[in-house]
Amino acid sequence: MNRLFGTDGVRGVVNKELDPEMVLRLAQAIGSFFDEGSRILVGRDSRVGGEMIKSLVIGGLISTGVKIYDAGLTPTPALQYVIAHEGFDGGVMITASHNPPEYNGIKVIDSDGIEVPREKEEVIEEYFFEKKFRRVPWRSLVHEATPYPYVNDIYVKAVLSHADKELIRSRGFKVVVDAANSVGALTSPRIARELGVKVISINASIDPLFPGRLPEPTVETLSETAKIVSNISADFGIAHDGDADRAIVIDDKGRVQWGDRTATILARYLADKHSDLPRRVFTAVSSSIIIEDVLKPMGIEVVWLKVGSIGISRALASQGGICGFEENGGFMYPLHHPVRDGGITLVLLLQMLAEYKCELSELFDELPQYYALKTKIPMPREVALTVVERVKEYFKNYRQVTIDGVKVIGRDFWILVRPSGTEPLLRIMIEAKDVEKANELLGIVKNLVKEVVPG
Ligand code: MG
Repeated sequence: MNRLFGTDGVRGVVNKELDPEMVLRLAQAIGSFFDEGSRILVGRDSRVGGEMIKSLVIGGLISTGVKIYDAGLTPTPALQYVIAHEGFDGGVMITASHNPPEYNGIKVIDSDGIEVPREKEEVIEEYFFEKKFRRVPWRSLVHEATPYPYVNDIYVKAVLSHADKELIRSRGFKVVVDAANSVGALTSPRIARELGVKVISINASIDPLFPGRLPEPTVETLSETAKIVSNISADFGIAHDGDADRAIVIDDKGRVQWGDRTATILARYLADKHSDLPRRVFTAVSSSIIIEDVLKPMGIEVVWLKVGSIGISRALASQGGICGFEENGGFMYPLHHPVRDGGITLVLLLQMLAEYKCELSELFDELPQYYALKTKIPMPREVALTVVERVKEYFKNYRQVTIDGVKVIGRDFWILVRPSGTEPLLRIMIEAKDVEKANELLGIVKNLVKEVVPG
């Protein structure tokens, strides 16, 4: 059957793949998936077409007899938290997260405040492709969309409840918040300010064209923000993606730190602080083994999962653990809500620094150092899977994680070789203790590719 949902919702260029007819049809499929009379919370980020898509989504949903509450502009983690904690039956978030500005998208949230699992996406896809829509009789269409402008307030209050306000206030922190001209600007500067932090906001005006930088926080897109952090001697900077579920950190030396390094520091801190939490953390195979280097000696298990945040959230929620994370800056704290959440990440960083009484750069400098290489080679999925088998065979004497492609873990290196979930590509990630070893490993993998695809 055709697929509509990618690894994280339905995405497309506005008025191209995501045209009004498609959106309306999808909204009717989503509404038919939820029971008649369900209370559905709808929110959006500030992307182009957001209001158009929201109007179509609300219209399509109402036709199926569900009750709509309109949250307006809000981060994805705020909508998710409120769905779970204010008794909603589900939600729709209109966002394309970190994608380029011309994209928008739709995420379907279950009553537990986590994106629906794949088997429920398949039901929605079936309704969409077969046009199996519930149309309620005219007498049932009595509910207008109800404005629900409380989501950001409820969310900010909830994340602040995990902070020792007086302790953080006493440290006199200075923090740069880069909200990518989107909805993170509505919550993160406010969260920091409520904790007595001096906040310097960058890219804080809501603007669908993303004039400040692209919505994806990377070393490249954050170069200017990083300069500001070091120039004004801030304690750190935090940068969100378009819907503020990700947070990439810039340390006090102006270095952009990748998400798995930040998550390792936070995981170690939370493991010490909450000895009652189950001794495990969840992450995708694409994360660095730094997390194992640091947590294994503490007796904490690292559970490797397939790439994709929904699986990590659902594993963390059902099995329990200290945290979950993705290497791209998505961090999940189960004592708040087990989804990626840029706002709670900010609170945890402030709380940790206030307790440790040290500079953030010192914590990063203590981590094991790896030299990273990342590349991709175009090839059909079937060929990529053959390469994966060849890599498994070649490294058969090493520890392997084979849940998504193959991750080979050596004493001082790791390799991940996997077919992309969305494109005809083989993705290769390598980390080693020095550049020579990393290049040698890449050479080996490339030779194995040549064996499978001569020339
Ligand atoms: Mg996002």
